[in-house]
Amino acid sequence: MALTLQVLGTPDTDNALFVKVDTGQAQSRLLFDCGDGCPHALDPNDLRAIDHLCFSHLHMDHVSGFDLFFRVNFDRDDRANRIWVPSGSGEIVANRFRGFLWNLVGPSQKGEWLVHEIGPERVETRAYLAREAFRTAHERPAWPRRARTVIDGAGFTVEALLLDHGTPSVAYVVREAARVNVDTEKLYARGFKPGPWLNRLRGAPATPGETVDVNGAAHDLNALQGELLVTTPGDSVAYLTDFRCAPAALENLAPVLAGVGTVVCECQFRAGDADLADAVMHSTAVEVAQLAARANVGKLVLFHFSARYTAAERYEMLAEARDVFPRAEFPPGW
Ligand SMILES: [Zn+2]
Ligand SMILES: [Zn+2]
Repeated sequence: MALTLQVLGTPDTDNALFVKVDTGQAQSRLLFDCGDGCPHALDPNDLRAIDHLCFSHLHMDHVSGFDLFFRVNFDRDDRANRIWVPSGSGEIVANRFRGFLWNLVGPSQKGEWLVHEIGPERVETRAYLAREAFRTAHERPAWPRRARTVIDGAGFTVEALLLDHGTPSVAYVVREAARVNVDTEKLYARGFKPGPWLNRLRGAPATPGETVDVNGAAHDLNALQGELLVTTPGDSVAYLTDFRCAPAALENLAPVLAGVGTVVCECQFRAGDADLADAVMHSTAVEVAQLAARANVGKLVLFHFSARYTAAERYEMLAEARDVFPRAEFPPGW
């Protein structure tokens, strides 16, 4: 299993986050936001295989690269086309679907797009079809949000939280499933030969009294699972952008982010410009570092800086953050 991430764009351009989850059996690709030039920076094979496009919100700097994403994928039918947006923003996505001349589409066009609107109480979904030139919003069943999880994927989940950016902005947390491995040293120390029984060992917990045949003898499965299996927590990454990291938000977010491996977080303003952050509902370097410290995350990756700052000032912002949370850094190459 592996979870890899790539911050797209540069300090002076729009940004996005690409996450790939590889379980060994399945690969899943997630793109968080789609600013100008961001999908262009992806390997074309990855771009054509994005499983979920998760928008924080639809301000221009987060959606301006969508045309390329849509152009290469609008008619694909080898996987579902899923887009996630905050509640009330689905119509903007639909209007982007419709913003082209579709006179050549016909019944052979296979593309079907599901637009999920994430609200505080429920997720509403509408489907749009390429063969209809995306004219009609087809209602799909809504589901209540009993938990934060909105995507239950192959070996991973994605949680969504609504943040305050003057408009709702969705934060996402990707969590790999825990990895269960066989301790091969113990296996060989016991003289157990590998075989099909290992699949059962790694599978569901033993039922009471269940045995498994190893080297021609029956062994108590529950005892073997306790002895031979090693469970390692999965990796995790959070994507937080365009929100006001005010004290109340920090209180709400810290328990959710507790122990997350990597937090990729906006850093629009210097600590001394908190009044600007207040005015446009963004966050300062010190505020997001305080959040990372409170949640004791693995590391904090700062991105989405205000264009008002020079490269030298961005380094000063990194230093401000590191004074509060030493494991703060820029994306590679920034
Ligand atoms: Zn915004
Ligand atoms: Zn933004």
